[in-house]
Amino acid sequence: MYAEGVAEMAGRIRDEDIALVRERTSIAEVISDTVTLKSAGGGNLKGLCPFHDEKSPSFNVSPARNVWYCFGCGAGGDAIKFLMDAEHLSFVESVERLADRAGLQLRYVEDDRSAPRNRSQQGQRQRLVAAHAAAVDFYRAQLSTAGARPAREFLARRGFDRAAAERYGCGFAPDAWDLLTKHLRQQGFTHDELVTAGLSRPARSGSLIDRFRRRLLWPIRDLTGDVIGFGARKLFDDDDGPKYLNTPETPIYKKSHVLYGIDQAKREIAKQGKVVVVEGYTDVMACHLAGVSTAVATCGTAFGADHIGVLRRLLLDTDAVAGEIIFTFDGDAAGQKAALRAFEDDQRFVGRTFIAVSPDNMDPCELRLAKGDLAVRDLVARREPLVDFALRHVINRYDLDTVDGRVEAMRRAAPLVAKIKDREKRPEYVRKLAGDLGMEIEPVQRAVLTAASGQPAGEPAAPARSGPAAPTVDSPQSMVEREALKLALQEPVLAGPMFDAVEAGEYRHPVHVAVRAAIATAGGAAAATGGAVWIEQVRDACDDLAGQALVGELAVEPLRIDGEPDPRYVTVTLAQLQWGSVTGRIKDLKSKIQRINPVSNKDEYFALFGELLSLEQHARALREQAAGGL
Ligand SMILES: [Zn+2]
Repeated sequence: MYAEGVAEMAGRIRDEDIALVRERTSIAEVISDTVTLKSAGGGNLKGLCPFHDEKSPSFNVSPARNVWYCFGCGAGGDAIKFLMDAEHLSFVESVERLADRAGLQLRYVEDDRSAPRNRSQQGQRQRLVAAHAAAVDFYRAQLSTAGARPAREFLARRGFDRAAAERYGCGFAPDAWDLLTKHLRQQGFTHDELVTAGLSRPARSGSLIDRFRRRLLWPIRDLTGDVIGFGARKLFDDDDGPKYLNTPETPIYKKSHVLYGIDQAKREIAKQGKVVVVEGYTDVMACHLAGVSTAVATCGTAFGADHIGVLRRLLLDTDAVAGEIIFTFDGDAAGQKAALRAFEDDQRFVGRTFIAVSPDNMDPCELRLAKGDLAVRDLVARREPLVDFALRHVINRYDLDTVDGRVEAMRRAAPLVAKIKDREKRPEYVRKLAGDLGMEIEPVQRAVLTAASGQPAGEPAAPARSGPAAPTVDSPQSMVEREALKLALQEPVLAGPMFDAVEAGEYRHPVHVAVRAAIATAGGAAAATGGAVWIEQVRDACDDLAGQALVGELAVEPLRIDGEPDPRYVTVTLAQLQWGSVTGRIKDLKSKIQRINPVSNKDEYFALFGELLSLEQHARALREQAAGGL
């Protein structure tokens, strides 16, 4: 299971201690620190794989067997292997981390020279984290010294009292060259460790000096709560460094992944299925204190693809469940530019993206100071979809009272609508854009189609899904078909009438089609009373061998719901089932419309467009029903 050479390294820690660590470790808890897990039935759990990019969860954890395995990319192992892969730790580091967690004291095998292994042979990560923990204590104590008055005043002016400063571990880097360095050296940290950790740096003279001086500090923590770096705010006018300084890239601090506040916010992010992205340390503090507990910020870098990856796994953002990501920007030009840049990112982010812009150009910290906690919560509640924001931003630049202005605004806005990844939403935005511009739908529609066809990148203009291609077994559509059949077999009294009302044509997987037909042949689910007799009737009515086997399987497979199924669950499941085929039909229709010349085939074009609008109405109704269960 492990790379070569590991057995030799593992020899440093006693084998019985490693076994004890495995035994005392809850694999589900360890993995839950970075991946949100939900029940997969049979006591197993699943989530989005951290080792490959995926939209529906194929990453499985079996707490009973103490293992994890990804059906998507084939990665797998135990808790130790998970930390090695997910956190890039060595075997020894992973065992040490788990031992800390379980409160176990590890014993190291003594070597031939009979000297006990000392701290320097512990894993590097643990040493760097320990150095940071000691630095946090040091800086925190400095915050109450006389020299730190400007730092305390900075916090107070922004509405943070002593309790808030303590909750976030704020500290002060004193006006000295090497106070921290000396302090940590005395505690046994080596020259190399302090440089590698980014806490110290070599001066020209060759001696070691502190990285941060005369600054207010925020410890930056990873998902598990370990401090891995610092953010440092300039306090003095004669400090000619940048306003904010951060820890440089180190083995444990990767700025493209780091999100400030994630350790405090992660549980609420997973629970609420949403995250608020703000711009700075004080904004995170202000949001949390104001009750927006899902706020995080990037540290010294723009929000990027790796941040999205971290958040998606927490949000459990899948095709079936859309996590919500809300960016806050102050209303100035820079903020707007950042929001529009985020529009590009949105194409990679499956969930829904929103923008919250403060009307008074204040950031959350200023807003809380000026108008209180409620105003911060309102700011987030008033979010608008990113697409709406971007369209408004473009349209506002033109004079819509003139024909030229309207046409130019339409030309500029059409590519944005054409870029919307979720194709089903485009007609909605075509109508909205036409309304905002005060134009007819038809020319706007044409401008969007032109912009879409001129777009070489991304998806092909005509989606390949034009027909009932057999889906893979665990595609979302296939899963929901399975669930509907399970309801009909296991709960015919509850689900029967609704099940029978959904047409057989809604099922795509050939074996599911066979089982659906067998249920109808057996008299329909509504007429059944359930139990073993009903299952036998369906099996007998099934003339497909694979279908007969599947009936037995579906009769016992647990439903994907905790607790007893109710009418609402049946409604949601069947709505999701039809949603798949309706969106498939919408896609087919749209590709057909794209291939028609609206000038020479005007009648057909408008007939299809009308059909599309009514299908979309149907889809919206289904989406509302389906959302009832999410
Ligand atoms: Zn995977």
